[in-house]
Amino acid sequence: MRLAVQSHPGQEEGAKMTLTKPRRFVLRTVLPLFALIVAAAIAVFLLLLWSSTGANQVAIERQESLLGLVVSQAQFTIAHDQESATVWDEAVNHVKRPKDVTWIDSNLGSWMHTYFGHDAAYILDGHNRAIFAFAGKAVADPSAYGAVASQVTPLASKLRDMLRHPDPEGYGERVLSPGASEILTLNGRPAIVSVKPIVSDTGDISQKADETFLHVAVRYLDATFISELARDYLFTGLRYATSLERQAGEHLYPLKSSYGQTIGYFVWKPYLPGTTVLSQIAPTLVGIALFVFGVLAVLLTVLRKRSLKLRASEARLNHLAHHDSLTGLANRAHFVERLDSELANVKNESLAVLYLDLDRFKQVNDTLGHPVGDLLIQELTGRLRNIVNDPSSIARIGGDEFTVMVPNFRSMAQIEHLCERIITAVRNPFNIDGNHIFIGVSIGVATSPQDGSERSELVRKADIALYHAKSAGRSRFAFFGKEMDVMLQERRTLERELRDALKSDEQLQLQYQPLYSAKDRRIVGVEALIRWHHPKRGLIAPETFIPIAEEAGPIEAIGERVMRQALSDTKGWPISTVAVNVSAVELRNPAYAMKVAKLLLSLDMPPGRLELEVTESAFTDTGGQCEHNIRALRALGIKIALDDFGTGFSSLGRLQQLAVDRIKIDRSFIQGFGQSANDEDIVEAIVHLARAKGLKTTAEGVETSAQSDYLSAIGCDDLQGFLLSRPVSAGDLERLLRTSVEFGAFGKGMN
Ligand code: C2E
Ligand code: CA
Ligand code: CA
Repeated sequence: MRLAVQSHPGQEEGAKMTLTKPRRFVLRTVLPLFALIVAAAIAVFLLLLWSSTGANQVAIERQESLLGLVVSQAQFTIAHDQESATVWDEAVNHVKRPKDVTWIDSNLGSWMHTYFGHDAAYILDGHNRAIFAFAGKAVADPSAYGAVASQVTPLASKLRDMLRHPDPEGYGERVLSPGASEILTLNGRPAIVSVKPIVSDTGDISQKADETFLHVAVRYLDATFISELARDYLFTGLRYATSLERQAGEHLYPLKSSYGQTIGYFVWKPYLPGTTVLSQIAPTLVGIALFVFGVLAVLLTVLRKRSLKLRASEARLNHLAHHDSLTGLANRAHFVERLDSELANVKNESLAVLYLDLDRFKQVNDTLGHPVGDLLIQELTGRLRNIVNDPSSIARIGGDEFTVMVPNFRSMAQIEHLCERIITAVRNPFNIDGNHIFIGVSIGVATSPQDGSERSELVRKADIALYHAKSAGRSRFAFFGKEMDVMLQERRTLERELRDALKSDEQLQLQYQPLYSAKDRRIVGVEALIRWHHPKRGLIAPETFIPIAEEAGPIEAIGERVMRQALSDTKGWPISTVAVNVSAVELRNPAYAMKVAKLLLSLDMPPGRLELEVTESAFTDTGGQCEHNIRALRALGIKIALDDFGTGFSSLGRLQQLAVDRIKIDRSFIQGFGQSANDEDIVEAIVHLARAKGLKTTAEGVETSAQSDYLSAIGCDDLQGFLLSRPVSAGDLERLLRTSVEFGAFGKGMN
């Protein structure tokens, strides 16, 4: 069988199904997976952001506390710087004596500026009056103190209070004298102002609080201080501001006096380690995320393709398992499944099952070959598809057997109409490779619920109906009827009884019908014909039980029995041939010729005396086994007669190819004499052709002398029929032979 390459409806269905599947794949697999990755990426990002913000926060806090520390450290340092010159006997003496400005400047003024970076210095007497001023990098007039007096004097007063009430615990190693220090705005600028008393270092000079001179040191915080701070502690863009205004990315830190009053702000771009790390990591992270996305996308695509392929091959396998490869129709297995599900479907109120069987399809295969047979089946499938509303309800369940299901049919008339359309469509000749082929189809129908609601029951009944349609004469349809079931049961009974009959001696008997020579009306041979005397039913015709025996099996036993009986009954008879009918079923057995040869040998019978009557079906047998046997039998010397010639598949043209010795012209032609002008012509043509081929002819069913005369006139060799003799028992035939020998001419018949 060829594999059909065209796509079948089922496959299209499969393709449609896979079209809806990508959406499911995206919804079920791709989206959740990508959502998961996006969520994970966001989580990682948020975590990083959180930790970097935390790191930034810590860093800023540290920078703030560093600033605070540096400022307080500066306060302390300035006071400490001052003590290098204010705790000194010489200084006490110099500030009290008529003023030696040069000495004061070089030790308490410009010296402090040069070595410690103080921006201004003032010396106040016991009444807080300036006696010396150093400002603007040079010695200034003491009156310059006036510009800062209002801010500084309160500090000086505070220090004097401390001098009046000295701390009983003393000042320790690092701090030698009391002092007052404050962060202030001087001349609109932030400054550390530190006031220290000028006191004896040896303790030799004692002074009262109101007599003690004070040294005021000023360090502005917005000039060199801030640039040194930025440089030493790596503060980016550090500046001083008096308002809260700042630019993006700048941070403010308030500069507060010891009273907590905000004087101004340090502004800088804080070092943010979190942000730095984040900005370094971010591109890498984005890269990794993109890479993971990419890899995943590729993996998913590959996976998708694989699963699609798998699904496609699965669908294809499924289709192959459920469909016939030649036609793409559902196969038997699929038909069974489908019928079960249709029957289980409560929506179906009725269901018809049609069983189709092609007539004469076997002959097409045998004579034109299987490729033509295949093409015919394909074209026929096309015709069925055009007729049946739902082509998926057609199935091919065998070589030339089809089924059609019709759920929910409205009326029997609808099904009848469908059957008629199918029969008409199939009866139209098929043109295949230039051959006009005539076939037919027989249809059996069973319906649910009328004939049953179970699959096996419906199938069996449709099959029975098909059998009836066929035996009623092909190209017909039949609905299952109860009587058919009865007939089937009857047939089964007959089958069983026939087997019983074979065991008995009385029931199956032979009759013999003589064959007469047309020339001189002598008996030249006999044909053995079987009779069944049924104990209850009476005589049963061979036309009834031979087909049953052929189908059910005992035909071989019957054939053997007939031949043995016929050969032994006729052993001494003065005739040249004994004809025995042989079924094509027997000839299909490869051992048949051998069996006949053995039988002849055991009965010591010359092979030339036996004539086997075969029908044309023996010559159209697949595999040619029948013909093989026929050739072997002829080689042994056994004669072969072609029975019922003219009724079968053969044509006159084919006659030349058949390996036979005699032709028996079917009685339907003889009986047509005088009615249909053609029949005489046909018989004459057959006789002439047979003679030209060296074949003998026998006319069957000769009932009138007119028929007999005509047949003699056209040169037919032998005659057989009721006119001459009916089939009779062996004893009667013996008597007949004796009389005909006695009278020397033809017997008048025994009816
Ligand atoms: P057939 O081989 O064509 O046998 C001749 C049939 O024609 C016989 O019917 C016979 O009685 C009938 N016949 C003879 N002369 C006339 C006549 O003038 N007019 C009419 N109308 N009929 C006539 P029968 O004996 O009923 O046999 C019927 C068929 O059964 C046979 O047809 C043959 O095919 C088959 N048959 C009979 N015996 C055997 C047998 O032993 N083996 C096999 N395989 N088939 C057999
Ligand atoms: Ca015959
Ligand atoms: Ca015949």
